Amino acid sequence: MSAKIIDGKALASRLRAEIAGGVAKLKAEKGIVPGLAVILVGENPASVSYVTAKEKACAEAGMASREIRLPAETTEEALLEEIRRLNADDSIHGILVQLPLPRHISGQAVIDAISPAKDVDGFTPVNIGRMMIGEDCFLPCTPHGIIKLIEEAGMEIAGKHAVVIGRSNIVGKPVAALLARRECNATVTVCHTGTPDVAKWTRQADIVVVAAGRPGTLTGDMLKPGAVVIDVGVNRIADATKPRGFRLVGDADADSCGAVAGAITPVPGGVGPMTITMLLWNTLKAAGGECVASATPAGQEP
Ligand code: NAP
Repeated sequence: MSAKIIDGKALASRLRAEIAGGVAKLKAEKGIVPGLAVILVGENPASVSYVTAKEKACAEAGMASREIRLPAETTEEALLEEIRRLNADDSIHGILVQLPLPRHISGQAVIDAISPAKDVDGFTPVNIGRMMIGEDCFLPCTPHGIIKLIEEAGMEIAGKHAVVIGRSNIVGKPVAALLARRECNATVTVCHTGTPDVAKWTRQADIVVVAAGRPGTLTGDMLKPGAVVIDVGVNRIADATKPRGFRLVGDADADSCGAVAGAITPVPGGVGPMTITMLLWNTLKAAGGECVASATPAGQEP
Protein backbone atom coordinates (compact mmCIF):
# COMPACT_ATOMS: atom_id res chain seq x y z
CA MET A 1 0.00 0.00 0.00
CA SER A 2 1.61 3.25 -1.11
CA ALA A 3 -1.47 5.48 -0.81
CA LYS A 4 -1.84 7.88 2.08
CA ILE A 5 -4.66 6.74 4.38
CA ILE A 6 -7.22 9.52 4.85
CA ASP A 7 -8.02 9.16 8.53
CA GLY A 8 -11.74 9.86 8.88
CA LYS A 9 -11.66 9.14 12.61
CA ALA A 10 -8.98 11.76 13.27
CA LEU A 11 -10.71 14.38 11.10
CA ALA A 12 -14.05 13.57 12.77
CA SER A 13 -12.53 13.94 16.20
CA ARG A 14 -11.08 17.40 15.34
CA LEU A 15 -14.42 18.58 13.95
CA ARG A 16 -16.36 17.13 16.90
CA ALA A 17 -14.18 19.16 19.27
CA GLU A 18 -15.20 22.30 17.33
CA ILE A 19 -18.85 21.23 17.42
CA ALA A 20 -18.63 20.63 21.18
CA GLY A 21 -17.15 24.11 21.49
CA GLY A 22 -20.14 25.52 19.60
CA VAL A 23 -22.57 23.58 21.81
CA ALA A 24 -20.91 24.89 24.98
CA LYS A 25 -21.07 28.48 23.63
CA LEU A 26 -24.75 28.13 22.72
CA LYS A 27 -25.55 26.81 26.20
CA ALA A 28 -23.55 29.53 27.95
CA GLU A 29 -24.84 32.44 25.89
CA LYS A 30 -28.43 31.47 25.10
CA GLY A 31 -29.22 28.56 27.42
CA ILE A 32 -30.01 26.35 24.41
CA VAL A 33 -29.06 22.66 24.37
CA PRO A 34 -29.25 21.24 20.82
CA GLY A 35 -31.66 18.29 20.83
CA LEU A 36 -31.76 15.45 18.31
CA ALA A 37 -34.67 13.01 18.07
CA VAL A 38 -33.73 9.65 16.58
CA ILE A 39 -36.56 7.41 15.44
CA LEU A 40 -35.90 3.72 14.94
CA VAL A 41 -38.63 1.48 13.58
CA GLY A 42 -37.97 -2.24 14.06
CA GLU A 43 -34.85 -4.06 15.20
CA ASN A 44 -32.55 -4.18 12.15
CA PRO A 45 -29.15 -4.91 13.83
CA ALA A 46 -27.18 -2.53 11.58
CA SER A 47 -29.74 0.24 12.21
CA VAL A 48 -29.62 -0.38 15.97
CA SER A 49 -25.83 0.01 15.95
CA TYR A 50 -25.98 3.19 13.78
CA VAL A 51 -28.56 4.73 16.13
CA THR A 52 -26.47 3.83 19.20
CA ALA A 53 -23.38 5.42 17.62
CA LYS A 54 -25.31 8.61 16.77
CA GLU A 55 -26.69 8.94 20.30
CA LYS A 56 -23.26 8.37 21.84
CA ALA A 57 -21.76 11.03 19.56
CA CYS A 58 -24.54 13.46 20.55
CA ALA A 59 -23.84 12.95 24.24
CA GLU A 60 -20.09 13.39 23.72
CA ALA A 61 -20.71 16.72 21.96
CA GLY A 62 -22.88 17.92 24.86
CA MET A 63 -26.15 17.60 22.91
CA ALA A 64 -29.37 15.99 24.08
CA SER A 65 -30.71 13.02 22.17
CA ARG A 66 -34.13 11.42 22.43
CA GLU A 67 -34.49 7.89 21.15
CA ILE A 68 -37.91 6.86 19.92
CA ARG A 69 -38.08 3.13 19.32
CA LEU A 70 -41.16 1.88 17.55
CA PRO A 71 -42.10 -1.73 16.77
CA ALA A 72 -41.65 -3.01 13.20
CA GLU A 73 -45.45 -3.21 12.75
CA THR A 74 -45.92 0.54 13.41
CA THR A 75 -48.24 2.03 10.77
CA GLU A 76 -47.13 4.79 8.44
CA GLU A 77 -49.80 7.09 9.92
CA ALA A 78 -48.52 6.49 13.48
CA LEU A 79 -44.98 7.31 12.38
CA LEU A 80 -46.14 10.47 10.58
CA GLU A 81 -48.01 11.50 13.74
CA GLU A 82 -44.82 11.04 15.80
CA ILE A 83 -42.92 13.24 13.34
CA ARG A 84 -45.64 15.92 13.50
CA ARG A 85 -45.30 15.92 17.33
CA LEU A 86 -41.52 16.33 17.06
CA ASN A 87 -41.90 19.09 14.44
CA ALA A 88 -43.88 21.05 17.06
CA ASP A 89 -41.55 20.30 20.01
CA ASP A 90 -39.28 23.29 20.75
CA SER A 91 -36.73 21.19 22.66
CA ILE A 92 -36.05 19.15 19.50
CA HIS A 93 -33.92 20.87 16.85
CA GLY A 94 -33.16 17.90 14.62
CA ILE A 95 -35.20 14.84 13.58
CA LEU A 96 -33.63 11.74 12.15
CA VAL A 97 -35.52 8.69 10.96
CA GLN A 98 -33.15 5.75 10.64
CA LEU A 99 -33.43 4.13 7.22
CA PRO A 100 -34.32 1.64 5.86
CA LEU A 101 -37.92 1.51 7.09
CA PRO A 102 -40.15 -1.61 7.02
CA ARG A 103 -41.61 -2.19 3.56
CA HIS A 104 -45.16 -1.15 4.46
CA ILE A 105 -43.97 2.41 5.21
CA SER A 106 -43.15 4.86 2.43
CA GLY A 107 -39.69 6.27 3.15
CA GLN A 108 -40.36 9.29 0.97
CA ALA A 109 -43.66 10.11 2.73
CA VAL A 110 -41.83 9.99 6.05
CA ILE A 111 -38.96 12.21 4.86
CA ASP A 112 -41.47 14.66 3.35
CA ALA A 113 -43.18 14.98 6.76
CA ILE A 114 -40.03 16.22 8.52
CA SER A 115 -39.93 20.00 8.90
CA PRO A 116 -37.14 21.30 6.59
CA ALA A 117 -35.95 23.40 9.57
CA LYS A 118 -35.31 20.16 11.54
CA ASP A 119 -34.13 18.02 8.62
CA VAL A 120 -30.59 17.43 9.91
CA ASP A 121 -30.08 14.51 7.49
CA GLY A 122 -30.60 16.95 4.60
CA PHE A 123 -32.99 14.53 2.84
CA THR A 124 -36.16 16.60 2.40
CA PRO A 125 -36.95 17.94 -1.07
CA VAL A 126 -36.67 21.51 0.28
CA ASN A 127 -33.10 21.01 1.51
CA ILE A 128 -32.07 19.05 -1.58
CA GLY A 129 -33.53 21.81 -3.77
CA ARG A 130 -31.69 24.50 -1.80
CA MET A 131 -28.46 22.53 -2.13
CA MET A 132 -28.94 22.30 -5.90
CA ILE A 133 -29.40 26.05 -6.29
CA GLY A 134 -26.62 26.92 -3.83
CA GLU A 135 -28.81 28.34 -1.03
CA ASP A 136 -28.06 27.94 2.67
CA CYS A 137 -29.42 24.54 3.80
CA PHE A 138 -28.67 21.38 5.72
CA LEU A 139 -26.28 19.49 3.46
CA PRO A 140 -26.75 15.71 3.43
CA CYS A 141 -24.29 14.27 5.95
CA THR A 142 -22.40 11.61 3.99
CA PRO A 143 -21.81 13.80 0.89
CA HIS A 144 -20.76 16.75 3.08
CA GLY A 145 -18.34 14.49 4.98
CA ILE A 146 -16.94 13.21 1.67
CA ILE A 147 -16.05 16.76 0.55
CA LYS A 148 -14.26 17.33 3.87
CA LEU A 149 -12.33 14.05 3.43
CA ILE A 150 -11.16 15.02 -0.09
CA GLU A 151 -9.96 18.35 1.30
CA GLU A 152 -8.25 16.48 4.15
CA ALA A 153 -6.34 14.46 1.55
CA GLY A 154 -4.77 17.76 0.46
CA MET A 155 -6.49 17.68 -2.93
CA GLU A 156 -7.54 21.02 -4.42
CA ILE A 157 -10.91 20.02 -5.88
CA ALA A 158 -11.34 22.95 -8.29
CA GLY A 159 -10.60 22.03 -11.88
CA LYS A 160 -10.30 18.30 -11.16
CA HIS A 161 -12.26 15.48 -12.77
CA ALA A 162 -14.32 13.60 -10.19
CA VAL A 163 -16.05 10.32 -10.98
CA VAL A 164 -18.88 9.20 -8.70
CA ILE A 165 -19.93 5.54 -8.90
CA GLY A 166 -23.54 5.36 -7.72
CA ARG A 167 -26.56 7.63 -8.11
CA SER A 168 -28.60 7.07 -4.95
CA ASN A 169 -30.53 9.97 -3.46
CA ILE A 170 -28.51 9.84 -0.23
CA VAL A 171 -24.95 9.53 -1.57
CA GLY A 172 -24.27 9.43 -5.32
CA LYS A 173 -26.53 12.21 -6.61
CA PRO A 174 -25.92 14.73 -3.82
CA VAL A 175 -22.15 14.21 -3.73
CA ALA A 176 -22.03 14.71 -7.51
CA ALA A 177 -24.08 17.90 -7.11
CA LEU A 178 -21.81 19.21 -4.33
CA LEU A 179 -18.64 18.50 -6.32
CA ALA A 180 -20.09 20.36 -9.31
CA ARG A 181 -21.16 23.40 -7.26
CA ARG A 182 -19.09 26.52 -7.78
CA GLU A 183 -17.54 26.19 -4.28
CA CYS A 184 -15.92 22.88 -5.33
CA ASN A 185 -15.76 23.50 -9.10
CA ALA A 186 -14.96 19.95 -10.17
CA THR A 187 -15.96 18.42 -13.50
CA VAL A 188 -18.17 15.48 -12.55
CA THR A 189 -19.04 12.18 -14.21
CA VAL A 190 -21.67 9.91 -12.63
CA CYS A 191 -21.50 6.15 -13.30
CA HIS A 192 -24.17 3.56 -12.48
CA THR A 193 -25.22 0.10 -13.59
CA GLY A 194 -26.21 1.54 -16.98
CA THR A 195 -22.62 2.72 -17.62
CA PRO A 196 -21.09 0.24 -20.11
CA ASP A 197 -17.44 0.76 -19.16
CA VAL A 198 -16.98 2.30 -15.69
CA ALA A 199 -13.18 1.86 -15.84
CA LYS A 200 -13.01 4.09 -18.94
CA TRP A 201 -14.18 6.98 -16.73
CA THR A 202 -12.40 6.14 -13.49
CA ARG A 203 -9.04 5.89 -15.29
CA GLN A 204 -9.42 9.57 -16.23
CA ALA A 205 -10.41 10.65 -12.72
CA ASP A 206 -8.41 12.67 -10.20
CA ILE A 207 -11.04 11.83 -7.58
CA VAL A 208 -13.15 8.65 -7.41
CA VAL A 209 -16.07 8.39 -4.99
CA VAL A 210 -17.41 4.83 -4.95
CA ALA A 211 -20.84 4.31 -3.39
CA ALA A 212 -22.18 1.14 -5.03
CA GLY A 213 -22.75 -1.14 -2.03
CA ARG A 214 -20.78 -3.93 -3.72
CA PRO A 215 -17.31 -5.11 -2.63
CA GLY A 216 -14.70 -5.01 -5.41
CA THR A 217 -16.57 -2.42 -7.53
CA LEU A 218 -13.32 -0.42 -7.81
CA THR A 219 -9.96 -2.11 -8.35
CA GLY A 220 -6.47 -0.67 -8.77
CA ASP A 221 -6.37 -1.27 -12.54
CA MET A 222 -9.34 1.12 -12.86
CA LEU A 223 -7.41 4.05 -11.35
CA LYS A 224 -5.12 6.77 -12.59
CA PRO A 225 -1.94 6.77 -10.45
CA GLY A 226 -2.21 9.29 -7.61
CA ALA A 227 -6.02 9.54 -7.65
CA VAL A 228 -7.88 10.25 -4.41
CA VAL A 229 -10.34 7.44 -3.60
CA ILE A 230 -13.27 7.90 -1.23
CA ASP A 231 -14.74 4.51 -0.40
CA VAL A 232 -18.30 4.94 0.87
CA GLY A 233 -19.36 1.29 0.77
CA VAL A 234 -20.01 -0.67 3.95
CA ASN A 235 -20.35 -4.39 3.25
CA ARG A 236 -20.43 -7.29 5.70
CA ILE A 237 -18.23 -10.22 4.69
CA ALA A 238 -18.54 -13.49 6.62
CA ASP A 239 -15.39 -14.05 8.68
CA ALA A 240 -15.31 -16.85 11.26
CA THR A 241 -12.15 -15.38 12.84
CA LYS A 242 -14.08 -12.29 14.01
CA PRO A 243 -16.12 -12.33 17.24
CA ARG A 244 -19.23 -11.10 15.39
CA GLY A 245 -18.70 -13.59 12.55
CA PHE A 246 -18.17 -10.90 9.90
CA ARG A 247 -15.87 -8.04 8.94
CA LEU A 248 -16.61 -4.80 7.16
CA VAL A 249 -15.17 -4.00 3.75
CA GLY A 250 -15.75 -1.12 1.39
CA ASP A 251 -16.57 -1.04 -2.33
CA ALA A 252 -12.93 -0.51 -3.30
CA ASP A 253 -10.46 -3.37 -3.24
CA ALA A 254 -8.19 -1.89 -0.56
CA ASP A 255 -4.95 -3.65 -1.58
CA SER A 256 -4.99 -3.02 -5.34
CA CYS A 257 -6.47 0.51 -5.04
CA GLY A 258 -4.04 1.37 -2.24
CA ALA A 259 -1.12 0.45 -4.51
CA VAL A 260 -2.18 2.93 -7.24
CA ALA A 261 -4.11 5.72 -5.49
CA GLY A 262 -2.44 8.76 -3.97
CA ALA A 263 -4.82 8.69 -0.99
CA ILE A 264 -7.69 6.45 0.07
CA THR A 265 -10.23 6.27 2.90
CA PRO A 266 -10.24 3.05 4.97
CA VAL A 267 -13.35 1.01 5.77
CA PRO A 268 -14.09 1.21 8.63
CA GLY A 269 -12.68 4.54 9.83
CA GLY A 270 -13.16 6.70 6.73
CA VAL A 271 -16.54 7.98 5.63
CA GLY A 272 -18.56 6.47 8.53
CA PRO A 273 -17.21 8.70 11.34
CA MET A 274 -17.61 11.76 9.10
CA THR A 275 -21.28 10.99 8.39
CA ILE A 276 -22.09 11.11 12.11
CA THR A 277 -19.95 14.22 12.55
CA MET A 278 -21.84 16.14 9.86
CA LEU A 279 -25.11 15.09 11.54
CA LEU A 280 -23.87 16.78 14.73
CA TRP A 281 -22.80 19.77 12.64
CA ASN A 282 -26.31 20.09 11.20
CA THR A 283 -27.95 19.64 14.62
CA LEU A 284 -25.86 22.45 16.08
CA LYS A 285 -26.78 24.63 13.08
CA ALA A 286 -30.49 23.77 13.53
CA ALA A 287 -30.29 24.94 17.15
CA GLY A 288 -28.82 28.27 16.01
CA GLY A 289 -25.18 27.59 16.89
CA GLU A 290 -21.98 27.27 14.93
CA CYS A 291 -18.66 25.48 15.36
CA VAL A 292 -15.98 27.21 17.39
CA ALA A 293 -12.39 26.16 17.78
CA SER A 294 -12.20 24.42 21.13
CA ALA A 295 -9.07 23.60 23.10
CA THR A 296 -11.03 20.91 24.96
CA PRO A 297 -11.50 17.55 23.24
CA ALA A 298 -15.09 16.52 22.49
CA GLY A 299 -16.73 14.83 25.45
CA GLN A 300 -14.57 16.57 28.03
CA GLU A 301 -16.04 20.04 27.91
CA PRO A 302 -16.95 21.48 31.32
P1 NAP B 1 -27.81 2.23 -3.24
O1 NAP B 1 -29.02 3.04 -3.00
O2 NAP B 1 -27.92 0.75 -3.33
O3 NAP B 1 -27.15 2.77 -4.60
C1 NAP B 1 -26.05 2.13 -5.18
C2 NAP B 1 -25.72 2.80 -6.49
O4 NAP B 1 -24.57 2.19 -7.03
C3 NAP B 1 -26.84 2.69 -7.53
O5 NAP B 1 -26.98 3.95 -8.15
C4 NAP B 1 -26.31 1.64 -8.49
O6 NAP B 1 -26.69 1.89 -9.84
C5 NAP B 1 -24.81 1.82 -8.38
N1 NAP B 1 -24.06 0.61 -8.65
C6 NAP B 1 -24.16 -0.59 -8.02
N2 NAP B 1 -23.27 -1.47 -8.54
C7 NAP B 1 -22.60 -0.81 -9.51
C8 NAP B 1 -21.58 -1.17 -10.42
N3 NAP B 1 -21.05 -2.40 -10.42
N4 NAP B 1 -21.15 -0.25 -11.30
C9 NAP B 1 -21.66 1.00 -11.32
N5 NAP B 1 -22.64 1.41 -10.47
C10 NAP B 1 -23.09 0.51 -9.58
O7 NAP B 1 -26.69 2.50 -2.14
P2 NAP B 1 -26.35 3.82 -1.28
O8 NAP B 1 -27.40 4.04 -0.27
O9 NAP B 1 -25.91 4.93 -2.15
O10 NAP B 1 -25.08 3.26 -0.48
C11 NAP B 1 -23.93 2.81 -1.18
C12 NAP B 1 -22.97 2.17 -0.18
O11 NAP B 1 -22.55 3.17 0.74
C13 NAP B 1 -23.60 1.06 0.68
O12 NAP B 1 -22.61 0.10 0.95
C14 NAP B 1 -23.96 1.78 1.96
O13 NAP B 1 -23.99 0.91 3.08
C15 NAP B 1 -22.83 2.77 2.06
N6 NAP B 1 -23.13 3.97 2.85
C16 NAP B 1 -22.25 4.31 3.80
C17 NAP B 1 -22.47 5.44 4.53
C18 NAP B 1 -21.48 5.82 5.59
O14 NAP B 1 -21.74 6.72 6.35
N7 NAP B 1 -20.33 5.17 5.66
C19 NAP B 1 -23.59 6.25 4.31
C20 NAP B 1 -24.48 5.89 3.30
C21 NAP B 1 -24.23 4.73 2.55
P3 NAP B 1 -28.24 1.87 -10.34
O15 NAP B 1 -28.81 3.20 -9.92
O16 NAP B 1 -28.11 1.76 -11.81
O17 NAP B 1 -28.87 0.71 -9.66
